[in-house]
Amino acid sequence: MGTPMKDVKIPDNVNSLLLDKHADYIAEYGAKTNDYEYVMTEYLRMSGMYWGLTVMDLMNQLHRMNKDEVLSFIKRCQHECGGIGASIGHDPHLLYTLSAIQILTLYDACDCIDVDGVVNFISRLQQNDGSFMGDKWGEIDTRFSFCAVACLSLLNRLDAINTVKAVEFVVSCMNYDGGFGCRPGSESHSGQIYCCIGLLSILGRLDLVNVDMLGWWLCERQLPSGGLNGRPEKLPDVCYSWWVLASLKIIGRIHWIDKDKLIKFILACQDDETGGFADRPGDMVDPFHTLFGITGLSLLGYSGIKAVNPVFCMPEDVINRQSIRLQIL
Ligand SMILES: [Zn+2]
Repeated sequence: MGTPMKDVKIPDNVNSLLLDKHADYIAEYGAKTNDYEYVMTEYLRMSGMYWGLTVMDLMNQLHRMNKDEVLSFIKRCQHECGGIGASIGHDPHLLYTLSAIQILTLYDACDCIDVDGVVNFISRLQQNDGSFMGDKWGEIDTRFSFCAVACLSLLNRLDAINTVKAVEFVVSCMNYDGGFGCRPGSESHSGQIYCCIGLLSILGRLDLVNVDMLGWWLCERQLPSGGLNGRPEKLPDVCYSWWVLASLKIIGRIHWIDKDKLIKFILACQDDETGGFADRPGDMVDPFHTLFGITGLSLLGYSGIKAVNPVFCMPEDVINRQSIRLQIL
């Protein structure tokens, strides 16, 4: 006997997309700098800004955010070594360096920081096996491979690393189920799959993926409620709408999931009073799940929001402006 499938219940009446409420929620979140929640999230401030600014741009509301304040904050987070930290005085890390470069690309303002410094910081983190450390402390993860390659692609500086080796390492993390883990031999996880597929899309090597097997594993993440989980036996969560869906989009298999049921699940995660999205219906909203609720709906073709690029999780018009070539199946 297997254990019963973990899932949630979707209410019968689900609101349509409450765009104005979500835009107000993000605009107000950014303004409350003395708020307890804001102070508690300082360790990921740079990513928080990326989530908020990107979702505002996707809702055509970027003009409501304080561009000058954002750019001067990013400048102050860059270190001597070129890397960028989560906040002022925090150690540099690839995760926050990518968030910063994504924000600067959104504003078409990469020239306001030391770009050569960023490129050197990233190239120094590549190891002989092609993998990347996230920072000088040495943790290796395929997420960091994606951060490095995505950053350099946005900066048009992929020549600074060994891309053949970068691909080799990612492929060494491929599993028998078609998915990818964080290191060779680690179990498949949809967040990791998104990073590996995104890297292979940027570097034009999706031919190395077993598309049908991977597509099947990803589709099996959809539960009866319509929501998607990150790996077997886990509850559905709005952020997986993004990792799973974006991966399916890149490998040309998005039509393998039930779109209407997933749209209903995502819409059920909105808070109709405060605005914003939670991980699942009835939970507390946050900017992270708000971005991934909106990007999920964008990939599903929901009207009223801009098209999102499945590899960079940024508006498609911004990526087109950079003239980046991606492989999408
Ligand atoms: Zn989540």
